[in-house]
Amino acid sequence: MTKYPVNKIILFSSVDGPGNRTVIFLQGCNFDCKYCHNPETRRLCIGCGTCVTKCPAGALQRSEENGGQVVFLPEKCVSCDTCIHICPHDASPRIRPMTAAEAFEAVKRQMPYIRGVTVSGGECTLYPDFLRELFALCKEVSLSTFIDSNGTYDFASDPELMAVTDGVMLDIKAFSGEDHLTVTACDNRQVLKNALFLAEEGKLFEVRTVIVPGLYDTEQTVLETGKLLKDYCGQVRYKIIAYRPMGVRESYSHYPVPEQALLEDYAERLREMGWRDIVII
Ligand code: SF4
Ligand code: SF4
Repeated sequence: MTKYPVNKIILFSSVDGPGNRTVIFLQGCNFDCKYCHNPETRRLCIGCGTCVTKCPAGALQRSEENGGQVVFLPEKCVSCDTCIHICPHDASPRIRPMTAAEAFEAVKRQMPYIRGVTVSGGECTLYPDFLRELFALCKEVSLSTFIDSNGTYDFASDPELMAVTDGVMLDIKAFSGEDHLTVTACDNRQVLKNALFLAEEGKLFEVRTVIVPGLYDTEQTVLETGKLLKDYCGQVRYKIIAYRPMGVRESYSHYPVPEQALLEDYAERLREMGWRDIVII
């Protein structure tokens, strides 16, 4: 059975989709967002060993049998996060390789307390086989299934995944192609296509935009996204997220935090278009 890189599992979350949910974070992302708040989720460990000697608890070891791969000993870890802060490759040595069935076992233990499962990242759609398999198991026990995505996966091409997915939380990081390249180093045509496709399918639960003044045209992004999805604004939530420098890579931590008044103004203008479910965080 294929094992997938699980960065962490949060047993209970009330901010990752409807109700109380278990959230599985997969490692690896195809974007390079300047304001990424979890840069340690971007890449897979290349086994350079830099973090091994810096771990104060002896929770990291090199495995000679496994070509020098770094082995994580969770029972020794004191969760100081030194390893992820010093990793020069935007990786983490604390990844747990898990099959979808193993991840489902972790979810199943929370069943009396959760409404469903959300898979996030990194970018979890880099592993569509994991999503299909995990969600099919969740459906057997009537757990709802949500995906947190940057929107680069072609959801329309995967009816099998859509059949077992209840909803998607989609990032619209910038509306213009040029701005999107500036923010993420990737094109956004598929993202906008997905926004419409998922809305038409009734599976777009939420769109989110991180407001970073000075990095891209935030006003255009919120208002044009609002217009693009206007026909569905009664069923989709718009989450406006204020940029905050916590966790951001040093070289990108200089952007200003937006004023609350600016966020309120964007929300008001969305309301004028007919949007009702708007959250500012
Ligand atoms: S987690 Fe980072 S620092 Fe540690 S071995 Fe892997 S690539 Fe090197
Ligand atoms: S968080 Fe990383 S550096 Fe800190 S104890 Fe755990 S493995 Fe070691």
